[in-house]
Amino acid sequence: MALTMSKKLNNGVEIPVLGLGVYESAGATREAVRDAIEIGYRHIDTAKFYGNESDVYKGILDSGIDRSEVFVTTKIWNDDMRAHNQREVIEQSMKNLGGIDMLLIHWPVKDEFVETWKIMEEYYKRGDIRVIGVSNFHKTHMEELLKSAEITPACNQIELHPYLSQVELVDYNNSLDIATECWGPLARGKIFEDETLKDIAKKYDKSISQLVVRWEIQRGLITIPKSVKRTRIAENADVFDFEISTEDMKLIDGLNENKRMIESADPDNFNF
Ligand code: NAD
Repeated sequence: MALTMSKKLNNGVEIPVLGLGVYESAGATREAVRDAIEIGYRHIDTAKFYGNESDVYKGILDSGIDRSEVFVTTKIWNDDMRAHNQREVIEQSMKNLGGIDMLLIHWPVKDEFVETWKIMEEYYKRGDIRVIGVSNFHKTHMEELLKSAEITPACNQIELHPYLSQVELVDYNNSLDIATECWGPLARGKIFEDETLKDIAKKYDKSISQLVVRWEIQRGLITIPKSVKRTRIAENADVFDFEISTEDMKLIDGLNENKRMIESADPDNFNF
């Protein structure tokens, strides 16, 4: 059964609010994607940088489902923007994935992301890619992009989890009708020892990952937890049969420490 809950993006395209992340899934990608689709996922998040686009496509084919039923995101990598290879890598990603549903600028590479956006707009306007967006953009990056953009990004994928709740940036994205998508939604595995989350999860008879994924969905966000284990992939998706109370949502909000899980992954100061 498909997990059908989706969100309408600013161009009218629907994106399933829950997807499978495949960063560092390496040789297990193909099977994880097939498992996820069997479980009901219809959204996969990859990137050229992850080196597994072809395995994502194979996993979709293995599942027996039509490619058009799965929403697939990929991203343009930093070095390809610097090398002005954008068109080549977009064409290659389209081949690797049997088409691109959503294409994102992976990081706001200074002096390069505006040019990249103009190229992405060409593909979008021709109808080759259904949705274009950005990732790791702060307000300042977005403001710079919007000065010359013809098309407003539909999505901003940012690090977001209970220790980095990103309230201001989500509000800013919302003010422009840009959907926010959470990467590292389980704080890259750091949430599992949290006593507050443990206590709240117990109340709902849910696991910590289910509680946190649900918290993200109830905030109106899109979320892409990663696992290559079938049981965990299924667990992370079993979040549509309960609702976190306003009081408990606030308790989870209260865990925010504005803390990035990887210090070097700072959109204002990254060296990759
Ligand atoms: P995540 O927060 O999804 O955490 C993944 C970790 O949690 C893994 O170690 C996994 O084994 C563990 N885990 C998952 N489900 C579990 C469960 N039910 N019980 C116990 N442990 C569980 O981290 P992530 O992979 O960094 O982020 C998710 C996705 O976001 C990535 O796979 C990728 O697609 C995307 N991403 C994007 C960017 C970007 O710059 N745009 C950066 C990083 C990740």
